Amino acid sequence: FDDLASFVEESSEVKTGRHRGCYSRTVAEKAREERELLPIHAYRDELLKLIEENQVLVIVGETGSGKTTQIPQYLQEAGYTKRGKIGCTQPRRVAAMSVASRVAQEEGVKLGHEVGYSIRFEDCTSDKTVVKYMTDGMLLRELLTEPKLDSYSVIIIDEAHERTLCTDILFALVKDVAKVRPDLRLIISSATLEAKKFSDYFDSARIYLIPGRRYPVEKFFRRLPEVDYLETVIRTVFQIHQTEPTGDILVFLTGQEEIETAETKLKLRMIDLGTKGSEIIISPIYSNLPTELQAKVFEPAPKGSRKVVLATNIAETSLTIDGIRYVIDPGYCKINSYNPRTGMESLLVTPISKASAEQRAGRSGRTGPGKCYRLYNVKDLEPTTIPEIQRANLASVVLTLKSLGIQDMFNFDFMDAPPENALLKALELLYALGALDGNGEMTKVGERMVEFPVDPMLSKMIVGSEKYKCSAEIITIAAMLSVGNSIFYRPKNQQVLADNARMNFYVDTEKVGDHIALLRVYNSWKDVNYSTQWCYENYIQSKSMKRARDIRDQLRGLLNKIGIELTSNPNDLDAIKKAILAGFFPHSAKLQKDGSYRRVKEPQTVYVHPNSGLFGAPSKWLVYHELVLTTKEYMRHTTEMKPEWLIEIAPHYYKLKDIEESQPKKTQRRREKARTLKVDTNKKKAKR
Ligand code: ADP
Ligand code: MG
Repeated sequence: FDDLASFVEESSEVKTGRHRGCYSRTVAEKAREERELLPIHAYRDELLKLIEENQVLVIVGETGSGKTTQIPQYLQEAGYTKRGKIGCTQPRRVAAMSVASRVAQEEGVKLGHEVGYSIRFEDCTSDKTVVKYMTDGMLLRELLTEPKLDSYSVIIIDEAHERTLCTDILFALVKDVAKVRPDLRLIISSATLEAKKFSDYFDSARIYLIPGRRYPVEKFFRRLPEVDYLETVIRTVFQIHQTEPTGDILVFLTGQEEIETAETKLKLRMIDLGTKGSEIIISPIYSNLPTELQAKVFEPAPKGSRKVVLATNIAETSLTIDGIRYVIDPGYCKINSYNPRTGMESLLVTPISKASAEQRAGRSGRTGPGKCYRLYNVKDLEPTTIPEIQRANLASVVLTLKSLGIQDMFNFDFMDAPPENALLKALELLYALGALDGNGEMTKVGERMVEFPVDPMLSKMIVGSEKYKCSAEIITIAAMLSVGNSIFYRPKNQQVLADNARMNFYVDTEKVGDHIALLRVYNSWKDVNYSTQWCYENYIQSKSMKRARDIRDQLRGLLNKIGIELTSNPNDLDAIKKAILAGFFPHSAKLQKDGSYRRVKEPQTVYVHPNSGLFGAPSKWLVYHELVLTTKEYMRHTTEMKPEWLIEIAPHYYKLKDIEESQPKKTQRRREKARTLKVDTNKKKAKR
């Protein structure tokens, strides 16, 4: 059993600060009083004056200083909402929801009335809403219908330092809007000192620094590389709990799965050590956590107990949880990465940047001196993270930009330009899908596709379903796919039962693929009148199903909007599969002798995902929804198809030779090469 002594102290930094008061009042009153204790409060009037005088203002302030929750309220109090809404973007859905609910609480109003939020497939706003939090992606979509953002008086691009793909695109678009709307105010808000870059981009916009309040943070690190860092995390939690004074612990993990594993391990260790449940309260927070559980993370731990928050990097700058005095940071996060060559997109666990490491450590020193335990050496880290635009699939944003009338992607005013081949790949895909014509202009199909807030392949599948008279089935499948991987419930001690229940949706007279199985799950649930009990009995997560129903309703509304009739064709599975192919034809794969698959148009070997119903039941030709990289490159959600459909549906993309029974191209090429080599050597011999 290691102890905290195995951590080596880093040099500590000291800044001064002030303790926050304590109140025992109602939640709303307390929230309101806490407003005045936030660092930003002292600068309220100065800020308002600067916003009045400067059309664009870059604001930098330490996380937790009150930027996100307070600035919109100050603007509201100053009367800006009489001229239009205040919009505030967030890179993460959970953050948008959570800060909106906090602000509604501080104002003593019902969430969705004056203060609301809008995230994909969930609009919690009304006619009354004047302070609107939303994901950056949602504001991007709003620009499609409101190109000059006329209903807004102020736009705040918050968490600008995160440099998400949508935020980066928004920078360019709002910069343009500001030029034609002198009355509009633009605030770029960031937690790190990248301000100069933002200011330069916005034509030397004024920078305002909110003086921070931070307590000293002692930083420790382990010099040895960690073999099982989760184990070290668990040990460190208990070491802190047993030897350090009161204060909550924040642990940075990479995702839901890791958080759940850590939670289980912590609970087991608590039993081993005889720790009472009342002593340690485990509080997870990640983006897929059900809404009602998200608020729990902000509840203070009961007196005498210690809260252990297990968070993704959402707690790095997006959310501030009060009471944290100890941070345990293994130094990893999941980032989106896209390979333009293969079109492969994946979430990769990657070491964080130095900038992130500093932010994470800072979480422990907000309300008192803190301690940060790092399982890495900060010297080994890169200074900053690469902006998402330089490592993302651009198809969706390119379609949005085209729809906004932006023709030349290569000379667009990007803050940091994406790689040229990623732009090309996006244009190629949109052309193949029929969204753009040969001149790169938007087509009728493209205009219909852009109405759907989903990836272009998925929107093409939806639009394409019209031809096959199965739009009802296709929007169900699209809704189920959009929910993510939380349809089937697979508890650790009932895996066999859960798997059997799942397989029932795959077998009928013949085995079906994952898309059709998802359709069956939904339709069976509908047949029992959306019963929760049925979900329970079939190892299906009823929350996910309700979300799928919500999404489906919205997709149905959008179908109606673009004039596609809702037609059902449930028994013609071939028609449904063809509609899937209409969007996903680039994702075709063919079985190889060794049981692996090979992408038809790319020299890439891929595998059926173990969670697929087709795992171990090989079908010669497959279409897949997405590739995920874990130990191998897996196809997630696969469905069998006929190769001739590829030529029928995408004759511009596939030629007969692509689907003919022949030697794999590589062997063929090698043979050809061998032949030429032989000729060469013969020639040489002859010369000699
Ligand atoms: P910043 O944007 O500068 O990082 P915020 O405005 O997000 O700061 O946070 C200010 C304060 O509001 C913090 O003390 C934080 O704990 C609190 N807060 C924010 N959201 C919530 C919430 N949903 N519940 C409780 N407190 C919250
Ligand atoms: Mg914030």
